[in-house]
Formats: sequence, structure tokens, C-alpha cells
Amino acid sequence: MKFVNEYRDPELGKKLIDRIHRRSKKPTRLMEFCGGHTVAIFKHGLRQLLPDNIEMISGPGCPVCVTASADLDKAIALARLPNVIITSFGDMVRVPGSYSSLQKAKADGADVRVVYSAQDALTIARENPDKSVVFIGIGFETTAPTIAASVLQAEQQKISNYYILSLHKTCPPIMKAILDLGEVRLNGIICPGHVSSIIGSYPYQFIPDDYRIACAVSGFEPLDMLLAIDMLVNQIESGTPDVEIAYRRGVKPEGNIQAIRLMETVFETGEAIWRGIGKVASSGLQIKSRYEKFDADRAFEIDPGPTREPKGCICGSILRGVSTPRDCRLFRETCTPENPVGPCMVSAEGSCATYYHYGDSHGR
Ligand code: SF4
Repeated sequence: MKFVNEYRDPELGKKLIDRIHRRSKKPTRLMEFCGGHTVAIFKHGLRQLLPDNIEMISGPGCPVCVTASADLDKAIALARLPNVIITSFGDMVRVPGSYSSLQKAKADGADVRVVYSAQDALTIARENPDKSVVFIGIGFETTAPTIAASVLQAEQQKISNYYILSLHKTCPPIMKAILDLGEVRLNGIICPGHVSSIIGSYPYQFIPDDYRIACAVSGFEPLDMLLAIDMLVNQIESGTPDVEIAYRRGVKPEGNIQAIRLMETVFETGEAIWRGIGKVASSGLQIKSRYEKFDADRAFEIDPGPTREPKGCICGSILRGVSTPRDCRLFRETCTPENPVGPCMVSAEGSCATYYHYGDSHGR
């Protein structure tokens, strides 16, 4: 398969692994920021191919997982309003909030529909002019441009019953927040591939400049990841941290200018709440006042009530890279993909689901 098989070539993989073993001498801690990378590392068994001095730590790059209970409660409260249709990506529907989930709200009679894109939500709005259709906008810079496009389209087509609950988050500010917390010592970061295809690699430059931490943007195939790790090892061993791209077919240093413009037309940066981290300034995307009629936060009066975190769940510290799913006493016992206690077990990119599906033999 073109663009897949060549990035899974075992011979090339072996050469990269040998080179990493030859070069890597120092104790090295690398964070893969993105949940998609955690899945790729486990699925292809990359951890046990690396030298013992390299430790891989999973980061907060799973949009469903980092959505705070307070925001989820807001979405559930919106679902309970009369004449409201909630549209959402599938994983989000199963995540437990403080007292319920969108799935339970649906079972109780709310109109909650799983969609694959904001375009699907817009179609539902067009077909149901007597209902208010709210799209639960989660995700990082990867999804925000398409959601911005749906808002512009709604305006152009004079669709007045379409709303976004914008829970979008941005990556560089949360990377800074995690580094500033100082809880986890890192030598290198594998930067997210899909996000970087939009924002480019320049926004990570503060990481080597201010924190002396190596960075490499990676794709999601085994060779992409090994090349990124090889680049990081080289930077770390030579003491020259920088930002490199191991995913040239998807990422340009300047990013996708058109997508950035689209995003900036509809959204502006603002404070966001992250699960396990709390409020982080300038780490969220809020709808600009010019498009406020599409903003569910402004359009509806709701009281989601006090927030409560799932008892015993340590998703927060897993997302900060401080713990692993194996540190959670509920892992595999009470908490499974069929009966998830926290979001990291619900999402296909969540660390707990990844550890569960690919097993401890792939972990280290
Ligand atoms: Fe939360 Fe379940 Fe993961 Fe434990 S195993 S941290 S309860 S999601």
C-alpha cells in the first residue's frame, strides 16, 4: 500500500533501531505527546526494541481524555434542554461526566447523535430547522479548521439553529504548562504529527530554546516514530536540542497557512480547563464575538451543577505523565473498555485503553 508499506519496512526499521542503540548512551526520558503515538508505539511493540536507557512517557494528547468533567457536564446539561439535538464524535458520548454521560442522557430521552464531522452536524441542523443543533467541538488544532469552516458555511447559508460548544484546545501552551509544572523530567518530546500538519514546527521552538529539551515531529508509522526517536537521541547526545521534522510528507515548518487563517477567522485563544491540569491561559479556542450567534456557551443558559471526578480514577496524573495506567488500582479490575470509569479507558487514543488492548508485554 503506497505511503504505508514503505514506512513499515523491517530492514529500514532494524537499521534505525541499531543506530539508536549505538548512539544512545545517556539516561533518556522521551514524552510522546499524542495519544495516536502511544497507540502506534504499543501496537508495533517499539518500546521493547529501544535500549534500556530510553524511557517512553505518554503525554496529554488525547482530546477526549483532556476534556474536563466540568465541560462534559455542560454538554450533558445542554442535551437535557428541550428541542436540542446534541451532535458529537463517538468516543465523547461514552465518557462519564460528574453524574452522567451523554450516552445515559440519550437513554433518558435526550436527542444525542454521533457524527463523523461538523459537516454532518450542519446537515442535521439544516434538516431540523425547528430544533437547536449543538456540535460538541473537541480536539486540538487538527479539527478546529474544519469546525471553523462549518461555522462560516452556516453563516453563508443563513442556518440559524447551529451552535458549537467549543472545547478545543491548543498544544504548545499545554506543553509549556506541563514543563512549568516540573513534575516530570524530560529530555525530549515527540511532537504530534496531525496537529503539526496545521500549525507547523515553529511553535515548538520555545521548548529547545527555553527548556533545553529536544523535539521531533513524528508521523504515525513505525519508521516515522523510530526516525523521530533517532533524531531526538542525536540532539540529546550532542547537547544540541532543536526542533526537527521526521514527518516531512505531512508537515512543513510554517504549517498549513490556509487552515491557520480559517481557524483564526472564527476562533480566538482563551483559557481552557484541562483534566488533571486545571485552567491554562491561552490554551483553548473560543468563538470570536463576530460569530457569537453560533456559540453554544453564549446562546444557552445552563447550570451543570458542581463537578465531581470519577472516584479512584487517576487519568489526571496519567495525562501529566506522572503515572501510568498500571498505577491505577481500578485498571483492568473495575475499569475496562466495556465499563470505563474514566476517559482514558474510553478513547481509542487513551493511555488506559492502549495499555488494556496491547497488554503489559508491550509496556515497559
Ligand atoms: Fe481512570 Fe480507568 Fe484509567 Fe484508572 S484505568 S486511570 S479509572 S480510566
